[in-house]
Amino acid sequence: MQEVVEPSALTRHLEAFQDAADATGGNRADATKGYEASAAYVEEQLRAAGYEPRRQEFSYGRRNPVDAFNILADTGSSSGSVLVLGAHLDSVEEGPGLNDNGSGVAAVLEVALRLAEEGAVSRERIRFAFWGGEEDGMHGSEYYVEQLSREETAAHVAYLNVDVVGSPNAVVFVYDGDGSDSEEAGPEGSGAIERVFQDILRAEGVQALPFGFIEDSDYDAFVKGGIPTGGLFTGDAGTKSEAEARTFGGQAGEQYDECYHQACDTIENVDMAMLEQMTETLMSATVSLGSIEGGLAMGAATEEGAG
Ligand SMILES: [Zn+2]
Repeated sequence: MQEVVEPSALTRHLEAFQDAADATGGNRADATKGYEASAAYVEEQLRAAGYEPRRQEFSYGRRNPVDAFNILADTGSSSGSVLVLGAHLDSVEEGPGLNDNGSGVAAVLEVALRLAEEGAVSRERIRFAFWGGEEDGMHGSEYYVEQLSREETAAHVAYLNVDVVGSPNAVVFVYDGDGSDSEEAGPEGSGAIERVFQDILRAEGVQALPFGFIEDSDYDAFVKGGIPTGGLFTGDAGTKSEAEARTFGGQAGEQYDECYHQACDTIENVDMAMLEQMTETLMSATVSLGSIEGGLAMGAATEEGAG
């Protein structure tokens, strides 16, 4: 695969999120200055690349309602169909949330910036979504799916979720769209998304493992809404097995991320090589699923490799 992602750009994004937490009380949870600073950074980056990001406001919680917002930014489209790439922008209150989920935000943001820079033209509208309210119950993505009309829902060709993709003791997981390893498959079309990811990774010599939809990230609303869903994940609170350690290296018997939801989930907690590989993989999947005209240089190489 010809590499198109700039590792230094991913580092720059993570530094901005670390700074946002450090300057404002150590976290980037909803309705905090840390969240606002993270949002401002994402918006400024998107605007500089020519996007017109917008805030989609919502609130949640009955007794003490929290005012939160998602950020959405779109490419043009010739088909009227929409491919959504999404990552939650909020952290827990216990820490800065650099792997969970600064990593996913950096990946989605970098794909947006690179596509703009390459002048990529896609048939599908590609919508970059940065969700609020995830850590308190996936409220931002739920609101997004709820407010779609039936026609708009039908126009969604796929949702790609990117939540935790730089784990220090990583396994490469791809959401189990076809249900081969889970109780239930994703909505129709999810199996094809899983295969796109698996093929891209296999061409790089990576045998990714399937990971079931267990209602614990922003994919949930899309799955329930019947939108074909997939995505990448490198593990958080789970424990690495002996077999996984043989395949992926790292420490068996330890968590994929010992700093999950803790104060130590800082920039030092993120495996940058893993984040870079997951971002390249997301880029290739976006080229494929968004029907980008002529692909990118990297997209073409991936097709050969997977063929
Ligand atoms: Zn998360």
